[in-house]
This record gives sequence, structure tokens and C-alpha cells, in this order.
Amino acid sequence: MLDTGYLYAKDKNRIFINTCLGCIGACSYCYLPKIGYRNNQQSSKIRTAKQILDDIKNIGYKVDSDTLITLGCFSECWNEQNKPQTVELIKHFLSQGNQVQLSTKKEIALEEVMHFQELIQYLGQLVIFVSSASVSEWNKFEKNTDNPNNRFKTFNISNKLNIPTVLYMKPILQGITIEDIDLYKQVINAYHVKDVVVGSMYSEQRAEETVHFSDRNQLFYNPVSDEMVIKSSLRGICNVYSRSSQVMQTYKKRFKDFEER
Ligand code: SF4
Repeated sequence: MLDTGYLYAKDKNRIFINTCLGCIGACSYCYLPKIGYRNNQQSSKIRTAKQILDDIKNIGYKVDSDTLITLGCFSECWNEQNKPQTVELIKHFLSQGNQVQLSTKKEIALEEVMHFQELIQYLGQLVIFVSSASVSEWNKFEKNTDNPNNRFKTFNISNKLNIPTVLYMKPILQGITIEDIDLYKQVINAYHVKDVVVGSMYSEQRAEETVHFSDRNQLFYNPVSDEMVIKSSLRGICNVYSRSSQVMQTYKKRFKDFEER
């Protein structure tokens, strides 16, 4: 087991990597304050990509080509301050053959990710999750994040490059997210979004499943009834998932199946 805050892994299958601990997004539902990190400022120094890779090596954690790399669960990995380190980590792990996922509430421009193309060996080796819990009330619930109208421009990437982007409706805020279902459908149609994750809130309320990026038993998945309604409403329009890891597995399986043919 590996748990330094910056790094977390239960096994060789997946490692969570943060180049800093804390975020400036100030989302009302954010779980960071519940586990001792701040969500209205970065509360730690940024560790460089080199330091992170040295840490992994010195700790003795073995990353093999099947290890899923998940960037930023205790930080916004595309903030100006840590973006350069995120980019270096993506380049490193893509060149090692790893699958890499990142989730963001920032707009990512085409030019910023164009250079990853030459490192990508198959569709879905790098997947970008564009996170949003509300469109119309974004400035109430996701105060210091990018305006969704800008954030959603990130979907242009998958229409131009071999990098899938996913609408990450997470967490579903009961009675709030569902109010924007038509707006989300418009976005899905306008940008030809293929994959959507409809995900649950993490909270301290004890439930069957703990979060995957910590074993401290502090945070649990707490589904709400609107999730089922939203999923039914989106089926037939796009692929609907409950977890980002399911999207990653689907792309990986397609690649493996193609290789075995
Ligand atoms: S962007 Fe994510 S980590 Fe940052 S404040 Fe919002 S929920 Fe928390």
C-alpha cells in the first residue's frame, strides 16, 4: 500500500498522483476539507514531475504498462501553477505505455494537448474527463472554476485529436444537476460527446463503498435517486457509465481485443 498524499495506490492496477494537495476551485460539495486539505487555496508546495517520479521509484512502487495513472484527486491538475508538471507526467507515462486519465474543471485548449498525439499508441490511452455538477448554477456550486461554456470547449479535442473526452457529471447534486438535464443534452449534441459518467457524491456518511483514492474509511460513495433518472434520460444518446474507471477499461479492452485479432 502506498499513501503519501501526493501518491496513493492499493496495488499495481492503479496509482493516483497529485502534484499538489489542495485546490482553488471552492466547490460547495468538495470533499477536500473533509480530509484535511483546503479547497480555496493550494495548501502545499507543488512537487515537480521529476520529484514525483523519484518518489515512486524510491518508495519501490512498480509501475508496469498495465498500471492506470489517475491524475489529480486532491488537486486541480490543470491549474496554471501545476499544469507544467501534469504535462510532464502525462508525457512520461504515455511514453511508458500507461493509460492516463485526468479530470478537470478547467478549459483545455487543443494546442495544449496536441503534442501528446505522437506518444499515444491507441485510442483511449489518454482520456480527459470534463467535470461538471451544474451548468446554470455553476457560479454558486463551483465558484472558482472555469465557466462551463468555456470548460465544455475541451470537448473539441476529441473531435480533432485521438484523445477521447468524457462529460463527467459528478457528483450529481440531488435536485440541482437534474434541473440542467436539457442543457447537458444540448452540450452532448453540440460537441458529439460519446461518453458520460454520472457519478455519486463522496461524503462522510457511511455507505457500502469507500472511495478508491484512500483507505482511511473517511469518504464513501453516496448515490442519490436523481442519478438513475439522469442515466435513463441519457441512455440512447450516449454511453452512460457510473465510474471513470469503467470508461478507461472499455477503451483498454477495445485495444486489447483489436491486438488479439
Ligand atoms: S475542482 Fe475538485 S478538488 Fe477543486 S474545489 Fe472543486 S471539487 Fe474540490
